[in-house]
Amino acid sequence: MIISGKELSARLKEDMRAEVATFPEKYGRVPHLVVILVGDDPASASYVKGKAKASEFVGIRNTTILKPDTITEEELLGLIRRLNEDDSVDGILVQLPLPPHISEAKVIETISKDKDVDGFHPLNVAALWQKQPCILPCTPKGIIKMLKFAGVEIKGRRAVVIGRSNIVGLPVAKLLLDENATVTIAHSRTADLPSVTREADILVVAIGRPRFVTADMVSDGAVVIDVGVNRDPETGKLCGDVDYAAVEPKASVITPVPGGVGPMTICCLMENTIECFLKKF
Ligand code: NAP
Repeated sequence: MIISGKELSARLKEDMRAEVATFPEKYGRVPHLVVILVGDDPASASYVKGKAKASEFVGIRNTTILKPDTITEEELLGLIRRLNEDDSVDGILVQLPLPPHISEAKVIETISKDKDVDGFHPLNVAALWQKQPCILPCTPKGIIKMLKFAGVEIKGRRAVVIGRSNIVGLPVAKLLLDENATVTIAHSRTADLPSVTREADILVVAIGRPRFVTADMVSDGAVVIDVGVNRDPETGKLCGDVDYAAVEPKASVITPVPGGVGPMTICCLMENTIECFLKKF
């Protein structure tokens, strides 16, 4: 079974669109998401466009602020502080990565935790690990939604997450743990990785290396979630971290790239923006 993130996100966005259409009457306005793009990296520009397009579909007001990569850290932090104070703004997202002279940690910390639609603020991260109410990071949240949509039983299963970044690997592992999976986190220093991944009922791969996971690393019937977004070195096309053609016949459930986790990330961003908006009323 192939889980189409594209299809699931389209359904969920339809539901959100219907919900948001009721907001002007109920609350006097629609949610407002502000996305800041620093510089002109084409991949970042395309992600920002995707966010604006999804907002438009759902009926969320989207403001994209473009800043040159010569902007100073202080100027960017000042802009974020003004948006924090602005009651008409519900969600703030600064597209990563940022130029090296700007500290990503400072930017993430400066965004109000109540407008942190990415779920990256240290207080949101701490709340997640303490099982307190928080804004969940979009990609991990989207992955759990996909697993549930596919009817995958998580409780009691062995999950292996390859990758331990703050953005994907660690929060995915935590959410799987909260769903009562037994979780192993693997990384670049893991010895004999294939022997670890072959133990997985659910394998989540978030490394950033094209077709890194080969068929011999996956057990028969495993659920395989591919988070990676890479350019195939031969064709230049988008591809995941999993060798899809080789692994798909072994997996019971698998996500494609593109059209898998990526669309769910944007869908959950829309959901987080609505959540931040509704908390005000
Ligand atoms: P990251 O911060 O670079 O982390 C990569 C992780 O992979 C690290 O924990 C690293 O281990 C591990 N790793 C690297 N080489 C490895 C190896 N040979 N064996 C085992 N583990 C290895 O990347 P990220 O931000 O988590 O993103 C991962 C991928 O997901 C990227 O392709 C990114 O583009 C994609 N992504 C997709 C979405 C989406 O919406 N679809 C969202 C976010 C990210 P160490 O910790 O030991 O260095």
